[in-house]
Amino acid sequence: MREALHVIDNELIKLPYSAPVEEVTNFKKLAKKEIYQCPYCQAKLIVKYGEEKGLYFSHQHLEACEKSRIVDHAEKKYTKQIERESKFHKVLTDIILDELIMKAKINKDMFVNVGYREKTDWKEYPDIFVQLPKKELAVSVITNVSPLDDTKLARQIKKRHNYFIDKGVEPIWFIEKKEQAIEKDKNSIILWDAELSIALKTKEDAQWDRHISSEIKDQNFFKFFNYPSNIENVDVRSLYYIFNNDENVVVKVQRFLKDRVEKPLRAFLINEGYELAFAEALAIEDGFKLSNPDIESEQRKAFQETINQKKKAFAEQLRYEEEKRRLRLESEQEDRKRKAEERELRLTELLEQRADDKITYELNYSELTRLLKKRIGMNQTEQMELWNKHMSKIKKPSLVWSIVIENNCTSFNELRNLLESK
Ligand SMILES: [Zn+2]
Repeated sequence: MREALHVIDNELIKLPYSAPVEEVTNFKKLAKKEIYQCPYCQAKLIVKYGEEKGLYFSHQHLEACEKSRIVDHAEKKYTKQIERESKFHKVLTDIILDELIMKAKINKDMFVNVGYREKTDWKEYPDIFVQLPKKELAVSVITNVSPLDDTKLARQIKKRHNYFIDKGVEPIWFIEKKEQAIEKDKNSIILWDAELSIALKTKEDAQWDRHISSEIKDQNFFKFFNYPSNIENVDVRSLYYIFNNDENVVVKVQRFLKDRVEKPLRAFLINEGYELAFAEALAIEDGFKLSNPDIESEQRKAFQETINQKKKAFAEQLRYEEEKRRLRLESEQEDRKRKAEERELRLTELLEQRADDKITYELNYSELTRLLKKRIGMNQTEQMELWNKHMSKIKKPSLVWSIVIENNCTSFNELRNLLESK
C-alpha cells in the first residue's frame, strides 16, 4: 500500500510523497507506536521510504491483506488512466481532496475517498468519490486540454462521464486551463470537444434557461450581440476551470448557451465568468454549490441591462440604415430623372439638326411631336388637334416643321393660324 489515506482513530490522514529526514524518522517512530491502521484489515502499519514509491505505509509482515492488494491493483489502473494528465493534475486533485476532507470532518452526512480506493472494481475512476445523503459524486480533474488530442480526449471523457452516470453517480468535472477562446465581437466562446462533453447542467444553469427563454422570443436577440446564428433550444451549461490566479488556486465559473455540436464548437457567451474560492465552489448543498448566488443575480441584472442597451442600439441602427436607404433611393430617383431629361434634350437637339437638313431627312410623326413640344411647348390637347385636324391636310411632318422654323413660331396658336391659312 502506498501514499494517500489511512486511519488513526477513524480519521483520514495523508502521507507526503517525500519529507525531510527528521519528519520521515518521526513518521516511522509514530508507526512503531502502532497508531497507523490498515483501513481494510485494521492491521497495524509501518512506514517505509523507497526511491520510486516515496513515503508509504506497509503491512508489518510483508503480506498485504487482500483488500489492500485489490486497492494496489486499482491504483495501477488509475495511474494508467491519468498518464495523459499534466504534472498539475496531482496538485489540483490534492487541493480538492483536502478541501473535501475538511468539509467531511464537520459534516457527518458526507463521506470522501480517493476514487480508485472507493470503487476498486470500476473500469473508469473518478479522481475523488463523494457520498452525500441524496447523491454520490464522481469528481474528476482534466488537464492538458488542447486541440492536439481533443477528439480522442473527448471520446475518453464521454465514455467515463456516461460510465459514472450508469453507476448512478453524478459526474463533476474541473478543467485545468487559463486561456479561453473568446470571440468578443461575436459574444461567443469556442469550446474544445472535450469541454462540451463535460459541461455541467446545474440549478443555476436552469435559472439562466428561464431568464434567456423569455428574452430570445425577440427574433433579433442574437443580432443584438452580433452572434452569428439563431439558437432555438435554450440549453445553458457551465464549465469549471481551475487555475492559479497568483495568490490562490481558484475555480472559474464559465456559463454559455449551447449551440453548435460540430466544429467549430461555438457557443453563446452568457457572461465573462467569475472566480470562486475552492471552499465556496465545493460547499455542500444538494451537491457542490459551484456558484455564488449574489454574483449570479448581479450578473443576470447586468445581462438584462446589456440586452436593453443592445436592443436600443439595434433599433437606432435600424432607423439609421432605413434613413440611409431612403436618402439613397431618393437620390437615385433624382439621378434617373435628370439623366432621362438630359437624354431627351440631346435627342431633340439631334432631331433639330436633322430636321434642318430637309433634303435628306424626312421626320416621322413622333419626331415631329418631340420637336414641337420643345420648340413651341405643344401640349396633349394641341397634339390631338394637330393630328386630327391639320395633318390630314398637310400629310408630311417635315412640312409642319419647316413652317415653324420659317415663321419662327413661338406658340401653338401661331402655328394653328399659319396652318389654317394654308
Ligand atoms: Zn490490510
